[in-house]
Amino acid sequence: MDSLNPKKRFGQNFLTDEGTVDRIIDLVQPTESDHIFEIGPGTGALTGRLIDSGAIVHAVEIDKRLCSFLTSRFSSHQTFFLKSGDFLKFELSELRKQSISWKVVGNLPYNLATPMVLHLLNSRSLFSKLVLMTQLEVAERMVAAPNTPNYGRLSIAIQRKTQVHLRYQVENTCFYPKPKVTSALVEIKPTFLENQGYLESQLDTITRSAFGNRRKTITNSLREFFSKNDILSCGLDPKSRAENLSIEDYEKLARHKNEHL
Ligand code: SAM
Repeated sequence: MDSLNPKKRFGQNFLTDEGTVDRIIDLVQPTESDHIFEIGPGTGALTGRLIDSGAIVHAVEIDKRLCSFLTSRFSSHQTFFLKSGDFLKFELSELRKQSISWKVVGNLPYNLATPMVLHLLNSRSLFSKLVLMTQLEVAERMVAAPNTPNYGRLSIAIQRKTQVHLRYQVENTCFYPKPKVTSALVEIKPTFLENQGYLESQLDTITRSAFGNRRKTITNSLREFFSKNDILSCGLDPKSRAENLSIEDYEKLARHKNEHL
């Protein structure tokens, strides 16, 4: 393992705590009829347990040293398939050829957790469940409710399309090397599978502007798109701020923009 010194640039904080591995496996509940997709298997702390369940396991790992290590560690298992490369460039529709319902597992590199989750959400119809480890702060943003400081664009992007739960907080002593921050395990189940392209891009524009100026009233932060009357006609209080609006409120604004402006 000497040649496998953790690389900071790949966000390598390897899971060393067996209790946390058990918790992840309990959430995933792998069985031999499952197809499981793992992001960043690292040295295989989770992968081994997933393979042992009899499930078919596909994984993508960016670090070539780790790919060689994993290939030899699991060489006797014909249910393990490893791709070397960047998950963010991985064409998820490839998975559809194998199965239409995958479970996703990943102890994600912290600096890329948000883009990785958004990449997964774009193909959410492929997944029955996602069990992901992220920095606690990111997990808190995923599950945040309106009128709280953590509520923002990530909360809306995820909660519009899935049921998301923060299951456990994970202390930094559970990893090597020890990250500076606390982590958390989130469980995500896709619910809203339809892709409404036009609404998505309007929502993106509106929420970017609203949360980019979260101290301003929406009358000011959304001035470029809506008059005070537009806001009133959506049944919203012009004095409210970004964090006071529910997901449904943002959808009303996006539809209004699409229909009237
Ligand atoms: N799953 C292992 C564990 O729990 O011990 C490793 C987790 S470590 C936090 C993140 C892993 O993701 C590392 O193995 C890292 O090399 C890999 N990784 C980082 N960026 C990646 C990317 N863009 N695509 C695929 N894997 C990536």
